[in-house]
Amino acid sequence: MTDSGSSHGQDRIDPPAAPGPDADEVSDGPDPLAGVWDVVVVGAGPAGSSAAYGAARQGRRVLLLDKAEHPRYKTCGGGIIGPSRDSLPEDFKLPLQDRVYAVTFALGGRFTRTRRSKRMLFGLVNRDEFDLRLVQSAEQAGAVLVTGVTVAGVEQPAGAGRTVTVTTSDGRRIEARAVVGADGSAGRIGRYVGVTFDQIDLGLEAEIPVPESVLRYWQGRIHLDWGPLPGSYGWVFPKTESGSLTVGVISARGDGEATKGYLADYIRQLGLSGFTPSIESGHLTRCRAEDSPLSRGRVLVAGDAAGLLEPWTREGISYALRSGRLAGEWAVKIAEADGSADVRRQALNYAFAIKAGLGVEMRAGKVMLGAFERRPHLFHAAVCLVGPAWRAFARTTQGHTTFAQIMRDYRAARRLASIASR
Ligand SMILES: Cc1cc2nc3c(=O)[nH]c(=O)nc-3n(C[C@H](O)[C@H](O)[C@H](O)COP(=O)(O)OP(=O)(O)OC[C@H]3O[C@@H](n4cnc5c(N)ncnc54)[C@H](O)[C@@H]3O)c2cc1C
Repeated sequence: MTDSGSSHGQDRIDPPAAPGPDADEVSDGPDPLAGVWDVVVVGAGPAGSSAAYGAARQGRRVLLLDKAEHPRYKTCGGGIIGPSRDSLPEDFKLPLQDRVYAVTFALGGRFTRTRRSKRMLFGLVNRDEFDLRLVQSAEQAGAVLVTGVTVAGVEQPAGAGRTVTVTTSDGRRIEARAVVGADGSAGRIGRYVGVTFDQIDLGLEAEIPVPESVLRYWQGRIHLDWGPLPGSYGWVFPKTESGSLTVGVISARGDGEATKGYLADYIRQLGLSGFTPSIESGHLTRCRAEDSPLSRGRVLVAGDAAGLLEPWTREGISYALRSGRLAGEWAVKIAEADGSADVRRQALNYAFAIKAGLGVEMRAGKVMLGAFERRPHLFHAAVCLVGPAWRAFARTTQGHTTFAQIMRDYRAARRLASIASR
């Protein structure tokens, strides 16, 4: 791949080229990773696929790497709220397992109340199917997917270097004009960029296959339980098409045994302990500190790798899809950048776009979490008994509003948060 003058300026980037004679030859054929890629995306979850889609749609040579083969299991409730739905690739068909129209709220297993909506609140997916379809969308847009590749690190020459080297655990070196790190909450690229977190939570989940009669009871309805540990809650998400319930809990990291105990008690209270889970797993979620970096040189981070996650609900798919798309688009601008000052400017623009959008939402989410940690019963009473509070909850899941907008527009919401925070 060569540079030459073009309408893009001095840093012309050639269109995608099949690995050919100029690619490094190995004994068993051309290396699919050879050449200089415009954008290399590390991690093919929602953030990575969205980034690869965004960059490939612009006709760039994009490589999407993942250590896992898709479809692969991912610990996640698979709740697809309005902003996630709205950030999917064009013509994307959501592999919905269920459509949610009702929520049963509970406070420590008690004081239950079911709220219903005429309009769908949000959808539920299994992440293996969902992530596979996202990867396929990125491939259809022109990205090259290579799985079974574990990225070990990134190297950038200091100063005005025009490429980044992505290194793999088996010793390969991949050259790119720009890199998007979307390798999840414990990712290598986030560490390289220096991402810092000010909230770490432990999520535990059980996939519980249940008989038809139990599924029918849950179909179209989820359960949310405000839990006994500060800031904790539990959920039942029915996956009707695959005959199972995803039951999970999340709470601040630090007392794993208490979180485990909460999940076991929750499953018992729900009358589900007689069924054997097919999968039991756990994962940490991490929210970025407000001053955490979003780039380093030609490397951007997105999704969980950047600590972009809703702090109260710990909803992260919409954050991954939205930040991924932006990262992919800005990575193209970095790949085209005319010198290191331009690289810096484009990286700053990406950070600005994230902070002005998701950053504002995260700030509101932190206020909500702070209040919820102290007085979960107030939230419970509000959402169960106060019509506008339930409607605000419903409209947020549908994507018609956000916590930040609610806090901005409604004095009552600000007041509730301020009383609860005392
Ligand atoms: C228990 C639990 C329940 C949740 N429920 C919901 C929910 O219902 N709705 C919601 O919106 N969010 C939910 N979340 C959050 C959501 O799962 C994440 O925010 C989302 O998966 C982030 O997407 P991502 O693409 O950034 O990262 P990931 O989905 O984690 O994808 C990262 C990818 O990078 C790959 N990778 C990692 N390291 C490397 C490497 N070194 N080299 C190559 N590849 C690598 C991985 O294999 C993976 O495919 C939940 C989280 C937890 C823990």
